[in-house]
Amino acid sequence: MKPHEHIAGFGTLGGELRVGGMPLSRLAARVGSTPFFAYDRALLDRRVDELRSALPAQVELSFAMKANPMPAVVHHLSGRLDRIDVASGLEMRTALDTTILAGQVSFAGPGKTPAEIRQAVAAGILIEVESGTEFRRVLAAGDQLGIEPNVAVRVNPDFAVKGSGMRMGGGPQQFGIDAEHVPAVLRDYATAGANVLGFHVFAGSQNLNAEIIAEAQRQTVDLVSGLAEHLPTPVRYLNLGGGFGIPYVEKDQPLDLGAVAENLHELVDGPIRQRMPEARPVIELGRYLVGECGVYVTRVLDRKVSRGTTFLVVDGGMHHQLAASGNFGQAIRRNYPVAVGNRVGSSSAETVTVVGCLCTPLDLLAKDVELPEADIDDLIVIFQAGAYGLTASPTAFLGHAAPAEVLV
Ligand SMILES: *Cc1c(COP(=O)(O)O)cnc(C)c1O
Repeated sequence: MKPHEHIAGFGTLGGELRVGGMPLSRLAARVGSTPFFAYDRALLDRRVDELRSALPAQVELSFAMKANPMPAVVHHLSGRLDRIDVASGLEMRTALDTTILAGQVSFAGPGKTPAEIRQAVAAGILIEVESGTEFRRVLAAGDQLGIEPNVAVRVNPDFAVKGSGMRMGGGPQQFGIDAEHVPAVLRDYATAGANVLGFHVFAGSQNLNAEIIAEAQRQTVDLVSGLAEHLPTPVRYLNLGGGFGIPYVEKDQPLDLGAVAENLHELVDGPIRQRMPEARPVIELGRYLVGECGVYVTRVLDRKVSRGTTFLVVDGGMHHQLAASGNFGQAIRRNYPVAVGNRVGSSSAETVTVVGCLCTPLDLLAKDVELPEADIDDLIVIFQAGAYGLTASPTAFLGHAAPAEVLV
């Protein structure tokens, strides 16, 4: 996708990008300081609506909160989605502060502490156990509190998914219990005092290939319907993962949601209905829900020409938006979409390199991009900043102030 398509997604007014309907320089004045992250409520809603109308009605939508744990965002989504997935005690607290029922919150992650497990059991949320040890800790906490814990087994599948930005299933993994060991774990613990609702398979993240996602979902349904025979009760929870990607760099093509949805319709009407009729399928998404609704807004502090290269030095950088600098797990650094937010559609173009304010060459936000000619105090916008932005960045690095976050 090209930068102008990202600009069009937000809309413009009088030569300015609009976020949440407000021209960017006015929003910057409202926020009161740069840099900041802004998340567009209408774009969030649009994304949820697109998913709802494409996916089968039986599929529950879950928000993987680690993608964007800003409480206002989580609260907004909680009223529109069915579930929230958390990965720490703090995320659990944020989720429980929303209107989502505790029974609709799930807790995943390979290193849950005994204290977090106790909190989760007390809260009544669904704990996705990732090892036999964890299963024993859940049972012990339930015993101590006099509560029957709700449990699902996270399975490390016996297949791998290609084309994911990050693979999280298949082969040796710290995530989940290897599929071949699940029957033994269930034999040992499934009738030992927990309410085992079903299974969770999460194969990978940031996948733009609909056919690969569809194939992973077919294999997941197949795997889980085999494992279901080892449960004392019918499968009620069938978390198929997600991994839906968004386009970050120009060569990325957006995911064909229709193709993914078509496959899900076939699975829901076919093997899921036949083999696991009581199962509620769940699709769990982080980045796809929130990534495209967010921008990171910085201000130009300096413009300098060094031996033929024009640098725009902005007041933000990799300490807030690590991913845009190419240092968040990317094999090759490529430019994220970027714009001069208060000069969209300007006809004067120049090739510039946008760098952050940190004293390290890693703090590179856009290299050799064509942008309208920008002055000191102009607003440089980095798109695709709604997921894995602020909380996935090394904010303490060099000791600058934390940026504001607003939902508009
Ligand atoms: C990180 C994570 C997600 C979200 O991944 P995205 O690529 O942001 O959609 C979903 N489920 C689990 C278990 C995760 O760890």
